[in-house]
Amino acid sequence: MRNSNWRERFQNFMEGRYGQDELSHFLLVVTLIVIIINFFTHSAFLGIVAGLLLVWVYVRMLSKDTARRAEENRRYLDVKDRVVSFFKGFGSRSGHDSSAQADFRIYRCPKCGQKIRIPKGHGMVEITCPKCRTRFRKRT
Ligand SMILES: [Zn+2]
Repeated sequence: MRNSNWRERFQNFMEGRYGQDELSHFLLVVTLIVIIINFFTHSAFLGIVAGLLLVWVYVRMLSKDTARRAEENRRYLDVKDRVVSFFKGFGSRSGHDSSAQADFRIYRCPKCGQKIRIPKGHGMVEITCPKCRTRFRKRT
């Protein structure tokens, strides 16, 4: 009986309040990281930072200004998306090297049509097709 009473009181208390979102989860993770770091550094500054982060999480959770909190969360997700796509772009750029593309020419083997990438600027070179072993000369 007391249990359900507490739950009811808690539900009444949380009524109309914002609660958790992705930003509060992110802030909690950051707080945890700061606390772990401070376990080794024992820095008063980091202790205050961790405390303020926790206060921020709870102030947001208990806030009744849900529109503003949702807006904060949206901005956080925007930044997160940009960071994620930055690192994705970084990864694909190193995989697909577009700057090196300009320094190569693509030739086709005259016999089997196999595409062969040859570095530019070596004058006339003899190319051996990796597929059919046909040799042909091209200007690079
Ligand atoms: Zn060939």
